[in-house]
Amino acid sequence: MLYDCVIVGGGAVGLSLALALGQQQYKVLLLEQNAQFSKETDLDARTIALSYASVRIYTEMGVWEKLRPRAIPIERVLVTMKGQYGACRLNGESEGMATLGYVVGLRELEQALYETLTTQPFVEILRPATLIHRHSSPEAWHLKIQHSAANLTVNSTLLVAADGVTSALRQEQGISQVKKEYGHYAVMANVEIPSKHHFTAYERFLPQGAIALLPWQKDLYTCIWTTGKEEAESLVALSPEDFIQRCQQQCGSRIGTIITVSKRSYFPLQMQLASQQESARFLLMGNAAHTLHPIAAQGLNLSLRDVWQMRTQVIMANEKKDIGCERFLNEYIQSRKKDQSRIIFATDAIARTMSSDMLPGWIRAAGITFLDCLSPLKHKFTQVGMGI
Ligand SMILES: Cc1cc2nc3c(=O)[nH]c(=O)nc-3n(C[C@H](O)[C@H](O)[C@H](O)COP(=O)(O)OP(=O)(O)OC[C@H]3O[C@@H](n4cnc5c(N)ncnc54)[C@H](O)[C@@H]3O)c2cc1C
Repeated sequence: MLYDCVIVGGGAVGLSLALALGQQQYKVLLLEQNAQFSKETDLDARTIALSYASVRIYTEMGVWEKLRPRAIPIERVLVTMKGQYGACRLNGESEGMATLGYVVGLRELEQALYETLTTQPFVEILRPATLIHRHSSPEAWHLKIQHSAANLTVNSTLLVAADGVTSALRQEQGISQVKKEYGHYAVMANVEIPSKHHFTAYERFLPQGAIALLPWQKDLYTCIWTTGKEEAESLVALSPEDFIQRCQQQCGSRIGTIITVSKRSYFPLQMQLASQQESARFLLMGNAAHTLHPIAAQGLNLSLRDVWQMRTQVIMANEKKDIGCERFLNEYIQSRKKDQSRIIFATDAIARTMSSDMLPGWIRAAGITFLDCLSPLKHKFTQVGMGI
C-alpha cells in the first residue's frame, strides 16, 4: 500500500495535518500509540488558547463548528505586575475584532479532529500503533507498523514525526536539538471563582515567575503558575485550602475569590528547537520541531500555521504533488522561517525578561505600562498574539 504521508503521533498537530492533507485528497495514514483519548471533567481539563488565526484555520477545515458551542472567547487580556502600578490591556475591540481568541479543552479539540477525520475517505487512523522498522529509498519510505497484535508493511512518499517533545523519531533520524532551560517550572490547575470572568484572561508577573489565568467553563479559570523548582514542588504538595490561599495572595482581589482547585501537576519549562526540521522525505512538526515556553500560549497556534502552509502548497499545485520531494519540503521550510523565527524570538524574550529575577520589578512594570501607552507597539504585539 502506498500513502502520500504517514504521520507518527496523533496529538493535536498530527490530527490537524492528517485532516488538512486528507481534505485535499492526499492519502494519509496516522499512527497513535495510545488506544483512546483520556477522559476528563471541566475542573480537570487541560485547556488551550487558540488565536484568532487558528480559529479561522479550524473554521476552514470544518472543525470549529464542533468546538464553538463550548469554546470560551477571550475578549481582553489584562497584564499586571504584583506590587507595582501599571497595567497593559489588550483587547479584540481595538483590533476591530470581537475576540482575541478562544479557550478550548485540548482533549475536546483532539476529539473533534478525530471525529472529523473519521468521515474522511483519504485518511486512515491506526491506534494503538507504532512504527517498528523503517528504511528509505529515493522514492519512498518502507515502513513496518505494529497495530494491536498484528504487523503490517506500508510505503509512503513522506514520513512526518508529530510525536511530541521527546520525539523518538527525531532522535532516530539523528536530528539534534537546541535546548534552553529557563530554570522555571509550571504548576497547572483549574480554579473555581464564582463571579463572572467577563471573558478576561490575566497575565500577572510576580517577583519570581508569573501566573496566567485563562477563562474556562462557567466559573472556572485555568491557572498556569510559573515559578522555581522548589516552590513548584511545594505548591503541588500543599493542601487545596493552602494552595487557594497562596494563589489568591499572588493574584490579588481583582479576579474574585477562589473557592475550589482541581488536582495540580507541574513540569519543567524549556524551549526545544530541532536543528533542522526536514531531511530526505522526512519532516518534523509540532512539538517535535519546536517546543515553546507556554507563557505566550503560542505553541499549538504556531504549529497550526505550519499545517496551513502544507495545505496551501498542495492547493496551489495544479496537479497532485509528491509532498515528500526535496522541492516541496524546501518550499515549506522557507515559507515558514519568518513566522517561526518571530514567534520563537518573542516567546523567548517574554519568558526571559518577565521571569527574570535580575530585573527590578519596577523596570518590568514600566515595560508593561510603556507597552500599554505605545499604541502602534501594542497593536503589533496584539496582532502577533492573534497570529495575524
Ligand atoms: C502548560 C502549557 C500550556 C499551553 N498552552 C498553550 C496555549 O494556550 N496555546 C497554544 O497554542 N499552545 C499552548 N501550549 C503548547 C501546546 O500544548 C503544544 O504546542 C501542542 O499540544 C503540541 O502538540 P503535538 O501534537 O505536537 O504534541 P503532543 O500533544 O505531545 O502529541 C504527540 C502525540 O504523539 C504520540 N506519540 C508519541 N510517540 C509516539 C510513537 N512512537 N508512536 C505513535 N504515537 C506516538 C503521543 O501519544 C501523542 O498523542 C501549551 C503547552 C503547555 C505545556
